[in-house]
Amino acid sequence: MLKQRTIRKAVHAIGIGVHSGEKVRMTLRPAGENTGIVFVRTDVKGAKPVAAQADNVSDTTLSTSLGQADVQVSTVEHLMSALWGLGIDNLVVELSAQEVPIMDGSASPFVYLINTVGIVEQNAAKEFIRIKRPITVTQGDAQATLKPFAGFKAGYTFEADHPVYNRYPKYAELDFSTVSYVEQVSRARSFGLVKELEQAQAINKCLGSSLENAVGIDDYNVVNEGGLRYDDEFVMHKLLDVIGDLYLLGRPILGAFHGHKSGHALNNKLARALLRCEDAWELATFEVPSSAAHEDAIREPILQPAAVSVI
Ligand SMILES: [Zn+2]
Repeated sequence: MLKQRTIRKAVHAIGIGVHSGEKVRMTLRPAGENTGIVFVRTDVKGAKPVAAQADNVSDTTLSTSLGQADVQVSTVEHLMSALWGLGIDNLVVELSAQEVPIMDGSASPFVYLINTVGIVEQNAAKEFIRIKRPITVTQGDAQATLKPFAGFKAGYTFEADHPVYNRYPKYAELDFSTVSYVEQVSRARSFGLVKELEQAQAINKCLGSSLENAVGIDDYNVVNEGGLRYDDEFVMHKLLDVIGDLYLLGRPILGAFHGHKSGHALNNKLARALLRCEDAWELATFEVPSSAAHEDAIREPILQPAAVSVI
């Protein structure tokens, strides 16, 4: 039986919110079985925990925010992506301000942070959301789809007609049975046109954005010293975001995702649409010898349909 996982002990990080520019202290704490991922604002007196769930998404402008009552938690997607990538089911995330720290704009610092304290198995069975039939949502010419698949794979088409984007791959796909999330996905950073940064700052977004936490692009080039981390860093960051946004379903997916120009809003629309279509998914557990499944702490096992039991 594949089991739920949490971290071995608490770990802290300090950074800034990319949109607020505010300093924030984040503490990740182990959580009991079936807790899920829960955010707690330590700076708001009496604030109730906010569950990392698609129905709690309150804003998707440039990042994904959660809100319950008047408690908001913002820019959760890169941390959520790292948690799916590492197979963490249960965690309490304490924040001393509204935003999860942006760190270097990728999910890699969160992976590093968690690996410094280690991951532990719990007794309860890990639950997956198994996609039973295709479901598609659209927004203008953007589209996002989930289909049945025995494992998890994702493909993404990134479209932007710009001399810099045109020099790099605009399509990428990954299959968790063969791709290392840590090596091939987690290090892909946020990116944007320097010109667009000014527009974002006019609506009080990206106030903490810099070349320390994003890839900046001018009319002709990537302006960061050192360039890109991977040739397909732009499209791979889009997949990193998809993984984080879809982990707000509360459990990892057994299925195949394909996105065409989808962003946080459409990713969330897909998650909400799936939850509403009860005939399109079911909860499943996975029978596998735990020791074999966790030899590589990063990769999900190759899932065979016969080994999945529906609960
Ligand atoms: Zn992102």
